[in-house]
Amino acid sequence: MDWKALANRILDGGEPISRNEALAVLKSSDDELLEVLQAAYLIRKHYYGKKVSLHVLKNAKSGVCPEDCSFCSQSKSSSAEIEEYEMQTPEEIVAGAQEARGMQALRYCVVTSSRAPSESEMKTITAAASRIKEDYPELELCASMGFLTEEKAQRLKDAGVDRFNHNLETSASFYPSICSTHTYEDRVETAKTVKKVGLDLCCGGLIGMGETLEDRVDLALSLKELDTDSAPINFLDPREGTDLEGSDRVTPNTCLRTLAMFRFVLTCSEVRIAGGRETCLRDLQPLSLYPANSMFTNGYLTTGGQNFDADKKMIEDAGFEVGHLVNA
Ligand code: SF4
Repeated sequence: MDWKALANRILDGGEPISRNEALAVLKSSDDELLEVLQAAYLIRKHYYGKKVSLHVLKNAKSGVCPEDCSFCSQSKSSSAEIEEYEMQTPEEIVAGAQEARGMQALRYCVVTSSRAPSESEMKTITAAASRIKEDYPELELCASMGFLTEEKAQRLKDAGVDRFNHNLETSASFYPSICSTHTYEDRVETAKTVKKVGLDLCCGGLIGMGETLEDRVDLALSLKELDTDSAPINFLDPREGTDLEGSDRVTPNTCLRTLAMFRFVLTCSEVRIAGGRETCLRDLQPLSLYPANSMFTNGYLTTGGQNFDADKKMIEDAGFEVGHLVNA
């Protein structure tokens, strides 16, 4: 496959990448890896230059989730030892925004473990959102709180939330293997509701749960269909006590091919390297900046990660720069 020609065809407004071509990206050999990354970089550079947007997570309510997502240490089926606490106060959430600004974050992502936000959680997040927008108007605000009705989505938007995260996680056909308490269609419904009220949609997935390469491509094509503004791509870091404990991690080269495939399919959407970056990409982390234009810094919801200083150095050493998006 002529990877550069494929990238140029996509950029020139020709046929978008086909399912078979996306699959070919995932099946490409290690010998072709740099050519694949170079081609994905042509698309990334066209839309985002060399900028890397940083996102900082806030776990505003941890554990005790009634859902049974098999990969998640906060699920009801997990016995992982994690900190558990109820919804934080608006003050605690606003304080996290200040910390995020200190880390040059473009976006602050407030996450709660729940099937859907309760009325009192809605009141807390909307109060916090209004204050964050007042105090840090330049900081983009994302929320991730489970399923949304249109009414709740609209209230979040009215309070100043810019974006809502709701991942599809994997393909429609593999989804029943990882969760039994809700369906893939439920997730698609909330993603569509987010778009309907005019919030930005952040919708991605998790790689390495036992799904096939075809499932990974189908996830990417579903995200394209939803017209997601942002796609966080997580790599399973199997946690002790979860149903997926003991699973093999995907290799660094697999992570890179996967990120390249998402860039080819999603072209101008943000592609974010999310959880599992440090443990799965290991020393090849800087190469992920060629297909991806965004990353979380300073850890994840229930696990630590590389801190802001180390991430900034890595980004700059690789010739990229921390900054806002050129073309979101
Ligand atoms: S709904 Fe979210 S927090 Fe709850 S188990 Fe699933 S992934 Fe974890």
